[in-house]
Amino acid sequence: MNIAQKTLFDRPSHTKIVATLGPASNYDEMLQKLIYAGVDVFRINAAHGTIDDFEVTVANVRAASEATGMPVGILMDLGGPKIRLGALPNDELDLPKGGFLAFISPEFNVKRSKAPEIDGIPLLTCTYEPLVNELRVGDRIVLADGTVELRVSEVAAKENQWAKCEILEGGTVRSRQGVNLPGVKLSIPAMLDVDRENAAWAARNGVDFLGLSFVRHAFEVEELKQIIAENGGTTRVVAKIEKPEAVENLESIVEAADAVMVARGDLGVETDIARMPVLQKEIIELCHEMRRPVIVATQMLESMTHSNLPTRAEVTDVANAILDGADAVMLSGESAVGDYPVETVEMMHRIALGAEDSVDSETYHFIPEDSPFGLVLESISQNACDLAEQIGAKYLVTATESGASAQCLSANRCPTRILALTHSEDTLRKLCLDWGVIPLMIPGMERTTQEIMLYALKLLRSEDLVQKGDRLILVTDATVETTYSAIAVYVVD
Ligand code: PGA
Ligand code: MN
Repeated sequence: MNIAQKTLFDRPSHTKIVATLGPASNYDEMLQKLIYAGVDVFRINAAHGTIDDFEVTVANVRAASEATGMPVGILMDLGGPKIRLGALPNDELDLPKGGFLAFISPEFNVKRSKAPEIDGIPLLTCTYEPLVNELRVGDRIVLADGTVELRVSEVAAKENQWAKCEILEGGTVRSRQGVNLPGVKLSIPAMLDVDRENAAWAARNGVDFLGLSFVRHAFEVEELKQIIAENGGTTRVVAKIEKPEAVENLESIVEAADAVMVARGDLGVETDIARMPVLQKEIIELCHEMRRPVIVATQMLESMTHSNLPTRAEVTDVANAILDGADAVMLSGESAVGDYPVETVEMMHRIALGAEDSVDSETYHFIPEDSPFGLVLESISQNACDLAEQIGAKYLVTATESGASAQCLSANRCPTRILALTHSEDTLRKLCLDWGVIPLMIPGMERTTQEIMLYALKLLRSEDLVQKGDRLILVTDATVETTYSAIAVYVVD
């Protein structure tokens, strides 16, 4: 198909696709191709880059969205307190199983301290300066994405600023790789100064979502929300579940957040990887009860970083995340540094279409006791979804300013697609994360139910998406002026 002819309606997977930007994807024409291939939200990994870089990226994404005529959200993922190795002499170091190494703090001075205990073993630094002061004998340290495992065997913090570790599982580590400390309670804050600056900038510059990495407590989400509010933003907070403490405090964190990410990269290292698939299901289920959109992330189509085809296991993983109830699935390295960014997005989109017809909407037919949408909107949504199925409606059309009615319909996992019409550009982009929602801008002054419906009809007709006799269901938001009942059935004439 000629790319220029594609429209919003050509990529109607219910499941949303989040793609991380990087050198493989962060340039004009590629951004457009990725949008056409099915990207709904671009992720900027703020761990790499400065505000000057982010400014360019945000402008490029907005321009690509404008050029394609498709709304796209932006998720800026704060680096947070990710601890990284310092520079290694040859950028790479082999750590043999059974050997030893030592972490040293910046104050460590080999000559002065004459530390025979760590003579001749590799000395590593990391970005968290107080580390050696917070380590205890027996603590576990994991490097190289879980492949290298260390156990702290001796600590000489106060006097000499080092901590010796035994290498339980060997492997190769590289400069600036992540350091995970599963179960070690560190005093490091959830946001570093640079995260706060990035968050303030994001809030002032209309970034739609902010990812909070390594969140452990609900108050950390509140802190980020405070920064957003102080900077006059409406940015939504995505709590990244990747620490055991976050799992312990899951309910309060999900409640405080606007959306959630099952961040399997770090979660699979910080908690027992064998329990992760079940944890993924539990997190998603809780998100449904609390009506928060949920993203499943990391290694979803990992082998496509360097191959034009995924493995069977990866295809199954993406499909299973969707069957678990994820709103969105995410690409990381595949789209940031991979050789096949467009093919990967297309594949993800295909898998979504293949899986989502089997999502059992019955499972989602419940009204949570303390839904943020309230009993009335919940009941209306549930009834609208039932009605859509009963009468075989082509679309559920909702006029929404806040996005709430579209989100509430989305939570019902209704097989009927939801056209969310809004006057708010802000709402338009935020709905890019919600399952089954096609967000559409109402560019004119249409305000009443009838005017909005006529606008939707015109649009659907011009795209040849409805024919005479097709049924549509209209659900209105309380904030939209209406003289009609909340659910209306329209038959296309
Ligand atoms: P990251 O987060 O890619 O920023 O580490 C996702 C994850 O940990 O899975
Ligand atoms: Mn992570």
